[in-house]
Amino acid sequence: MNKIKNLFRFLFLLAFLVLLILRLEDAQPWGFEGHKKITEVAIDLILNLDKFNKIEQSKLDFLKKFLSENKNIIIERCIEPDMVRSEDKDEQYNHFIDIDRYGAYPFNELPRDKKVAIEKFGFETVQKNGFLPWRISDFTDSLAYSISKDDKEKMLKYFSWLAHYVEDAHQPLHVTENYDGQLTNQPGIHSRFETELVKYLMRNDELKFDIKRLKNELQRNSIVGDRVNFAFGIVLESYKFINDILNADNYAKSLIPPEKLYRVEKRDGRTRYIYSEEYYSIMAGKLKDLVYDRMTRASIRLATLWLTALAESSNYK
Ligand SMILES: [Zn+2]
Repeated sequence: MNKIKNLFRFLFLLAFLVLLILRLEDAQPWGFEGHKKITEVAIDLILNLDKFNKIEQSKLDFLKKFLSENKNIIIERCIEPDMVRSEDKDEQYNHFIDIDRYGAYPFNELPRDKKVAIEKFGFETVQKNGFLPWRISDFTDSLAYSISKDDKEKMLKYFSWLAHYVEDAHQPLHVTENYDGQLTNQPGIHSRFETELVKYLMRNDELKFDIKRLKNELQRNSIVGDRVNFAFGIVLESYKFINDILNADNYAKSLIPPEKLYRVEKRDGRTRYIYSEEYYSIMAGKLKDLVYDRMTRASIRLATLWLTALAESSNYK
C-alpha cells in the first residue's frame, strides 16, 4: 500500500515539475539566455578592468574577487526576478514602464521623482504603468548598502537582481504600452524579439562580444550621480527602437507566405505560434545590430551601476 502511495506521490511530483518547466518556457523577458549573456559580459568587463576613475584600487580588487568567485551564481540568479513573479503579484510592476501612457516623447508629463509622480497620478496608475526606472535606482542603493555591511547573501541578491532590471530597461518592448504588439496587430512580437531572435542569433554565432573594446567604453564612464535620471535615460533611449522592431516584423511577414510563416502547436491548453527559421533569418538581417547594441549597452550600464554602488558603499559607513 505504501509503495503505491509513494508511486503516486512520485508521479504527482513529476507531473508538477513538467508543468513548471513548460510554464517557465513561456515567461521569459529578454529570454533567459539574453539575460544571462548580458550579465556574463558585465562581469567579464569588470574582471578585465584595471582601473575605474575615482575608485580605490583595493575596492576594485575586492569587487573583482567577489564577482569572479560568484560569477556563476550571479549569472544564474539574474533571472530570479522573473521566477518569483508568480508568487509575488507586485513584482511584475518592477519589470517595465509603459512610458507612452504619459503623453508624447520625452514624456515630461511624468515627474521623474516617484513620490511626485504618485502625488500627481495616484499610486494605482503609476504602479499599473510600471516602476522599472525607480527600481533600478532603489536596487543600486540597496546594493551599495549591502556592500557597506559586507552582507554576502544580500550582495548576491542585489548584484543579480539589479542586473535583471537594467537588462529589462534596455529591451525596447519593456518601455511601451504596445509591449506585445497588441495595438498594432503583431501579437507575440515580445517573445519573438527577445527570446527566439536572441536564441537564433546565438545559435548562428552572430553575437560576438568584444570584451576589450567594450571595456574601453566602460572605462570612459563615470560613477552615476542621479540614478533615477540615468535609468530614465536608458528608457528614453530604448523607446527609440520600438518602431525598428515592429517594422522588421511587418517586413518579414510581408516576404513570407502565411503557410510558411509559422506552425501552430497546442500545448498546456494554449495555442502557440512557432515562427519559421525563414522569419527569424529575415528578422536577424534587420535587427542583428540593434540586438547587439542593446545587449552591449546593457552590460556597460550594468557594470557602471555596480561600480557606482561600490563607490557609494563608503557613504554608509
Ligand atoms: Zn523582467
